[in-house]
Amino acid sequence: MREEKPGYDDTPIIPGQVWRVHDKERPHPRVVTPPTASTQEAPGRPPSDAIVLFDGRSLANWRGQGGVARWKVENGYMEVVPGTGDIWTVEEFGDCQLHVEWAEPAVIKGESQGRGNSGVFLMGRYEIQVLDCYENPTYADGTTGAIYGQWPPLVNACRKPGEWQSYDIVWLGPRFEGNKLIRPAYVTVFQNGVVIHHNTMLIGPTTHRAVEPYRPHALVGPLKLQDHGDLVRFRNIWYRPLRGYDE
Ligand code: MG
Repeated sequence: MREEKPGYDDTPIIPGQVWRVHDKERPHPRVVTPPTASTQEAPGRPPSDAIVLFDGRSLANWRGQGGVARWKVENGYMEVVPGTGDIWTVEEFGDCQLHVEWAEPAVIKGESQGRGNSGVFLMGRYEIQVLDCYENPTYADGTTGAIYGQWPPLVNACRKPGEWQSYDIVWLGPRFEGNKLIRPAYVTVFQNGVVIHHNTMLIGPTTHRAVEPYRPHALVGPLKLQDHGDLVRFRNIWYRPLRGYDE
């Protein structure tokens, strides 16, 4: 017969915790059905507890300049319509696991920062660079996957233009007390399954040719995608809120 509550009640307390080693009373992890893998042909299915931000069909939950997100949606992806401006989610969130897939234009145009530029902005302020850096040199802290203007990715893990790529991001937003920063933002990023940032500390919001200090903001913000004038595509965007990281 299966034990009703497997575990122990006579073991030592784990230092720094309220639970005993193998504590039979300790709450069990929630059950989540894992995602299915994406292929070049089709996006995978998000994990069962994910909040879907873009499912390939509609920008109804996105906003843009003047209120409406005016990027193109077709064949299960969205594509930047140059000149229509950045778009952002209605949904606002903070600490999270975020999944984004994108593809660079198959037809190569431009060089350096002018080739397939877009961006994934956490909380609308902190950019993970999207760029075609497959055989396209640019400044290191503007490479694909860079925390723009602050940290280059650990490696260049780019696929060829036209191929679907992914970011899996663990984001811990900054914390403020009044006007004071009490904890900076930290990010871990995998590009196409390769770690490119590991618990990297941001010095502030990302910006071009400058250093910008943190300014207090809410614990949540929208996800923003950048219109940099290039025909970059996105699909299968979802996140899972992370809790338990507050001191
Ligand atoms: Mg960019």
